[in-house]
Amino acid sequence: MNNKSGQFVCVVAALIAAPAVSTAQNRGPADHPNVTIGGQHYNPKVILGRNMGTPADQEMQFPPHKIIGNVYYIGSKTLSSFLIVTPAGNIVMDTTYERNVRPVIQKSVEDLGFKFSDTKFILGNHAHGDHMEGDALAKELSGAQVWVMAEDEAALRAMKPGGKEHPIDKVFHDGDTLSLGGTTLTAHLTPGHTHGCTTWTMKATDAGKTYDVVFHCSLRAGGRITPDIEAELNRSFPLVRALPCDVPLGDHGAQYDMQEKFAKLKAGAPNPFIDPKGCNIETDIEEAMFHAILKEQAEAAK
Ligand SMILES: [Zn+2]
Repeated sequence: MNNKSGQFVCVVAALIAAPAVSTAQNRGPADHPNVTIGGQHYNPKVILGRNMGTPADQEMQFPPHKIIGNVYYIGSKTLSSFLIVTPAGNIVMDTTYERNVRPVIQKSVEDLGFKFSDTKFILGNHAHGDHMEGDALAKELSGAQVWVMAEDEAALRAMKPGGKEHPIDKVFHDGDTLSLGGTTLTAHLTPGHTHGCTTWTMKATDAGKTYDVVFHCSLRAGGRITPDIEAELNRSFPLVRALPCDVPLGDHGAQYDMQEKFAKLKAGAPNPFIDPKGCNIETDIEEAMFHAILKEQAEAAK
């Protein structure tokens, strides 16, 4: 576990709530049930391990890069952060851990040739520390406004790295949009992983063509699926599948094969991030896992 500030993060949620965990030495998420999607085998432990990597991976700057149009990657090896550049200023989506803000997020913005002080808005994907703990420091360094989804507000107010209040300049709702310098981001409430998990969509223009970019929120059931979470995810899966999508992204790079696609980036070659066929792969994995966990829970209750 790598949670120096004591905030509630994905890992903690999994540790606390994972079903069928023996108490003594096995404190990680369960290694069952298992599902197979596209020839790959998954269980809760595999998925969390893939998402988080090692503690070092979570803090290591990944080479910042252009994804498509005005969308750039500025995160660590396993925790996504995105920069959207416009003539009226920039938007940072996901600040990750507070300790990553200066050495990973700000540095990546500057390495790409942009100014962190040009950040006008800080948006988040969901109210877990590995995605939004850095909001207070990022706001302090950039002067940006922090906008949060209403259903995640309570969880964010409880997120206080070093005792800092979580900055909230505006609370938005499902379907709300943010427009800046010709780019419009739309917030889609896709709850389940957190109550306010937000899938963001926008259009990006690259080489004269327009593409639908989807910043997916995790659909991973963090542990035991309660009736409330079951209802939330049953709402989210079809909603996410229905979004127009050419460029799938995710709050952890592993959710969209970030490292493999980055390795294929080459001048003159097709952009590997344009991957409409890959748009639902992560949803397929999480939905299969959701049903497998529900089945396991029902059997255990017999
Ligand atoms: Zn999470």
